[in-house]
Parts: sequence; structure tokens; C-alpha cells
Amino acid sequence: MIIQRVVLNSRPGKNGVPVAENFRLEQSTIADTVQAGQVRVKTLYLSVDPYMRCRMNEDTGSDYLQPWQLSEVADGGGIGVVEESKHPNLAKGDFVTSFTWPWQTVAILDGDSLQKLVPQLVNGRLSYFLGAAGITGLTALLGIREKGHVAAGANQTMVVSGAAGACGSLAGQIGRLEGCSRVVGIAGTDEKCSILVQEMGFDAAINYKKGDVAKQLRELCPGGVDVYFDNVGGDISDTVISQMNQNSHIILCGQISQYNKDVPYPPPLSPDTEKIQKERNITRERFLVLNYMDKHEASVLQLCQWIQEGKLKVRETVVEGLANIGAAFQSMMNGGNIGKQIVLISK
Ligand code: NAP
Repeated sequence: MIIQRVVLNSRPGKNGVPVAENFRLEQSTIADTVQAGQVRVKTLYLSVDPYMRCRMNEDTGSDYLQPWQLSEVADGGGIGVVEESKHPNLAKGDFVTSFTWPWQTVAILDGDSLQKLVPQLVNGRLSYFLGAAGITGLTALLGIREKGHVAAGANQTMVVSGAAGACGSLAGQIGRLEGCSRVVGIAGTDEKCSILVQEMGFDAAINYKKGDVAKQLRELCPGGVDVYFDNVGGDISDTVISQMNQNSHIILCGQISQYNKDVPYPPPLSPDTEKIQKERNITRERFLVLNYMDKHEASVLQLCQWIQEGKLKVRETVVEGLANIGAAFQSMMNGGNIGKQIVLISK
């Protein structure tokens, strides 16, 4: 059977900015028959995420990420529908997902590698299983619960960087649901800041590309910062950490501002910031959502419940067509997305 697929065309280089041309669309074939234990799936949605930048290097710099190989099909979070099944637990018409979905229109996959999805849990919005009701929502929720030390009634102020992105937009809302009394976001455009405040219930948002971030943060967090959900690292994080309180907590979610640099993960803090962190006893432990697999199922149900109740507002930026997945990745890395960046492959 003839299919379309997207392969890694070239590497951006350890310190290079990734571009759409690092990926190539090509025609390929898959077997005509499905073997025992396998299913043939049609791809519906694919996810593009910042961690994929590391997979574009020969060495990902991480023990849990494998590099993509040149001229081989890329993969990541995906959702599809079963077209033919020779797996006992999967039937034609089932919706399924995997973290290692190949970037191709149709695929034959091992049925054991797939999880079945229940569309009713997300009001039929299947793509949410790649975002708010998937790994992104889990990252926000478990990051806060495992590393945030948020306590209802403790009058805590939370700051979120990368706040209008997939994780960030959920983290601010979840911080509030878990008990923070004040939530302030930092994002890259006025439109993003306005959505955070008008739609997502943030108390305030700062456009870090405009004005003096430190001054605005001091005004918006008069009692200092108790919890910092850090998606970006770099200068923004130096500024936030300098305004954190004694015995406060950093949720070290990601460091996207450093992903095009050849530095270890997590990148060390600057000497001045590290001094503040130590003097004020600020926790900054590494957080990886995949280390909490035992909590995923219950946490997804919590996220779905909040979505159904309208307590968690979800935004997606949807790009159509497998041919555009490289451009979608490039755009997301440059701030072109609001909420989760999704690529629609087939309706
Ligand atoms: P995302 O935030 O939806 O997309 C990336 C956003 O980062 C862009 O939209 C852009 O928004 C911002 N950005 C890009 N370059 C920046 C820079 N130099 N400085 C400041 N902001 C920059 O992506 P996501 O999937 O939610 O991921 C957010 C972070 O969570 C990433 O660091 C990712 O690696 C991490 N993550 C961690 C885990 C975990 O288990 N720890 C799991 C999933 C994701 P602006 O317009 O605001 O610049």
C-alpha cells in the first residue's frame, strides 16, 4: 500500500535553529497484510513538541530520548483510528494513541504499543488526548503536585513562563484550581497575554518582549513569588528567581530558551541566580512526567473532569496536512502557537 511519510532530511546542528526544511515529505509503501498482533491505523492527529529539538541531534543529550535518524521516518505523540485489526483487544473503528506514532498517513503498528481512547471523556475532541488530556496536561498537573508544594489557603503566588504554550496555559489554570491565590503568566505577544487573562483566568500576564519584565513582575507580585512553573529557563528565569521568596519552589518543567544551545539538561543556573537559590532555600528539582507513569491514569481522569466541567480552558493551534508538520514544528519553536500545537493529518 502506498503512503505518505515525513523523514528527517537534515540536522540543524547542535547550536542551530531548526527549520521546516530539516524534514522531507516522501511517498513510501507498507505491507498489504496485517500480521497477528498488529493493526493497520489511519493517522488522524500528530503532535509537535519542544523535546523533538533534542531528537534532531545525533546525540539527544538525554538518556530517555533516542535521536531521529537521517532519511528515516520521524515519530512522536499521535492519534489514529484502527482500519484493520489482528489484535484481540482492538477492533476496526477504535481510536488509539501512542508516544511513538510514525509521521505517516497510514501505518501497521504492534497493537500492544497502543492505548485505546474514549472520545466521550473529552467531549469528542480527540486531539485533546495529545494535549490537555494527554502528556501536556499530565506534565502541568503532576509538575504542580509533585514539585510545586501548592496548598489551598496558603495565599501563594504562582508565576508561569511560556505561559501561553501547551503546558504553561494549563499550568496556570491548574495552579489556581489547586489553591494558588494569584497566578501571573509570562508570554511572547500581547495577544497571548490577553488570552491568558481574559479566557484562562490568569490574574495578569507580562509580554517579555516588551518593557521591563523585572519591574512589571515586582508590581504584579507584591508579595514575591512562591511557586515558579518554569518552561523556558535563561534570562526570564533569572528575573523570576530573583523575586522568589524564602523556601519557595521552582517546578523545573522545561528550558526551551536553551534547546538550540549545546548545554547539558537541566542547564546550570548563572552564578548570581544560583546564589539566590541557595540563600533562599528555593527547591529546583528535575521533573520528568514519564517518571510518574503510575499516576497517569487517575490524573488523565482528573483532567478530563475539569475539561468537561469547563474548569480547564483549552486552546489549540491546528495546522493541516502531513506536508506542513516541519513548518508547524518550526512555528511552535518560534512562538507561533497558542496552547497546544496539533497537526491534523486526516479527518
Ligand atoms: P509550548 O510552550 O506550547 O511551545 C513553545 C513556546 O515556548 C513557544 O510558543 C514560545 O512562546 C516559547 N518560547 C520559545 N522560545 C523561547 C525563548 N527563547 N524564551 C521564552 N519563551 C520561548 O511547548 P510545550 O509543549 O508546552 O512545552 C513547554 C516546555 O515544557 C518545554 O520546555 C518542554 O520541553 C517542557 N516539557 C517538559 C516535560 C517534562 O516532563 N518535564 C513534558 C512536556 C514538556 P512565546 O511566544 O511565549 O515565546
